[in-house]
Parts: sequence; structure tokens; C-alpha cells
Amino acid sequence: MDISVIIPVYNEASNILPLHSRLHEVLATLTNNYEIIFVNDGSTDRSLSLIRELAQKDFQVKYIDFSRNFGHQVAVSAGIDKARGKALVIMDSDLQDPPELITALYARWQEGYEVVYTKRRARNGESTAKKLTARYFYRLLARITHISIPLDAGDFRIISRKVAEALKQMPEKHKFIRGQISWIGFSQTYLEYDRPERAGGESNYTYRKMIRLALDAITSFSNLPLKIATVSGFLVSGIAFLLMLYTLYSRFVIKDYVPGWSSLMLSVLFLGGVQLISIGIIGEYISRLSDNVRNRPLYIINDTNITER
Ligand code: UDP
Ligand code: MG
Repeated sequence: MDISVIIPVYNEASNILPLHSRLHEVLATLTNNYEIIFVNDGSTDRSLSLIRELAQKDFQVKYIDFSRNFGHQVAVSAGIDKARGKALVIMDSDLQDPPELITALYARWQEGYEVVYTKRRARNGESTAKKLTARYFYRLLARITHISIPLDAGDFRIISRKVAEALKQMPEKHKFIRGQISWIGFSQTYLEYDRPERAGGESNYTYRKMIRLALDAITSFSNLPLKIATVSGFLVSGIAFLLMLYTLYSRFVIKDYVPGWSSLMLSVLFLGGVQLISIGIIGEYISRLSDNVRNRPLYIINDTNITER
């Protein structure tokens, strides 16, 4: 098997057929030994039946059907687990990642790069809010992590078997695959492209899912938030201690004191706030720790046409 294309699918009924035909056209020029793995992430529309029909007609179409919606990153992980290709392409199913670009990705991979990722030069048809949050999120992430996660790069990329095997060894349950691939290392390069609008349907990456992904990225690759909690804790305690000394001084030495309701309230509220923030940050890490300790499977498969070797 030369190429495995991994495609997470969540309610993409209108895009599957055009995607398949464009992919087929591109891949056929590269090799006749490829597979297209659709990972159906609990779609509630006709996506699964369309994929099954395709698989009947085209033996190169494989599918994995999840028992429910597990999320984009988990769907990609499942595809990587089952892929058999020497090179693996990860792409979205909404045609925002143009299949024609695979030719260029594959060429760079053949030159010997283990990872060729793609950077989004322009992002068409996405809301200003999404573009802005994405832009600043990647820059924040770059500052607070020790590994260099490329700016403005999505998951659309080609990776080698070596990288796929390394990914399979990474046990964390909260996946941020881009970060993991940067962490793995090897020789990596990138291509730039203008990201088109999604072909049909609408984005399934709600703000809720985006915030999850952002928190997963930060907690997996940075301990800075924990350190901020500690440092601000010390800082506020220091100030509180000085204030305490001052209170005692004015009470017993200058004997000039007014029952200071406002200052009392201010310090109580401020301290309470800092404590809650710190506990919250610690909680984010602990909840992820406990998920990893519980060691549940990452996903449950309902049906697949991939037979184990
Ligand atoms: N997706 C998924 N599970 C989800 C949400 C999205 O598998 O819970 C898939 C979706 O079908 C698409 C890709 O992930 O192939 C990217 O999603 P989307 O286009 O909604 O994200 P956006 O491009 O808006 O960031
Ligand atoms: Mg999209």
C-alpha cells in the first residue's frame, strides 16, 4: 500500500461524492495502490450510507463507523491506527483541503521528508471571529510551549509510516495531533495554500469544540498555566501579608483605624478570585490526568470493512 488517505466525516453527506471523485482522479495519477479511509464520527445524516455504497463499488474505499461522535482528532487517530500506507494523508471531508494538493505533498514526501504539513495563507469563507481566534491562539501556543508547533497549519498533511508508528505509541486521550507530530520531530517541511470555502453543509467545529481543542493543546504541551497559578498565588499572598502588617501597625502603634469594610471586601474578593482561577487551572490538568489513568479506549467502532491483517 503506497498511500492511505484518512478522512474524518461528521455530517458531510453533500461533500462525500465530489470528494471521492476528485480524490480518485488525483490518486490514480500517483499510484494504483492506495486506500481512502472514511472515519464516520457519528454522523446523523446520510454520510454513512453514502460511504457504504462507495465501498461497494470501489474496493479502495475503506470505512470505520464510530458508535457515536468522538470528535475530529479521535477520528483521525482511528484512521491512523488502521491505515496501511507507506504515506498517510490526513484531510477534511468538506473540500477545504483541496485533493489536488496531494500531488505536491506526495512529491515532497518522496524527496525524503517525513512530514509535509500545509499552512493556510488565506482562509476564505470563515468568520472574522474564527480567523482572529485561530490567529492569536496559534501565536499564544507558540509562546507558551517548548516545541515549535507551526503557525496557521491545520491537520491537512502527509506523514510517513515512521511518524504514524510514533503517533500510535503516544497514549494520551486528549489528542492535539499537530502538536504531537511536532513533538515527534524528524525532517518536516510545509507547503502554503489558500484555503477555499467549505463546499457544502456547514462547519461542525462549534466554538465549544474549538475551546476543547485549544485547552487540550495547551494542557498537553505546556505547564505554563499551572506556573502562572503558582506565581500569582505567591504574589497575592505577599501583598496580603504586607497589608496584614500594615493593619497591625495602624491598630496597635498609631492606634488610628477605621473599620475598613471596603478594603476588607476588596481583599477577600480578590483573594477568592485568584484562588478559584488557580483551582480551575489545576482542575483542567487533573481531569485530563484522571482520563488518562482511567485508560478507556479512545473510541468504539460500530462497523468497519477493514480486515485485520
Ligand atoms: N469533524 C469530525 N467530527 C466532529 C467535527 C468535525 O469528524 O465532531 C470533521 C468534519 O466532517 C470535517 C473536519 O472534521 O471533515 C473539519 O470540520 P469542519 O469543516 O467542521 O471544521 P472547520 O473547517 O470549520 O474548522
Ligand atoms: Mg471545514
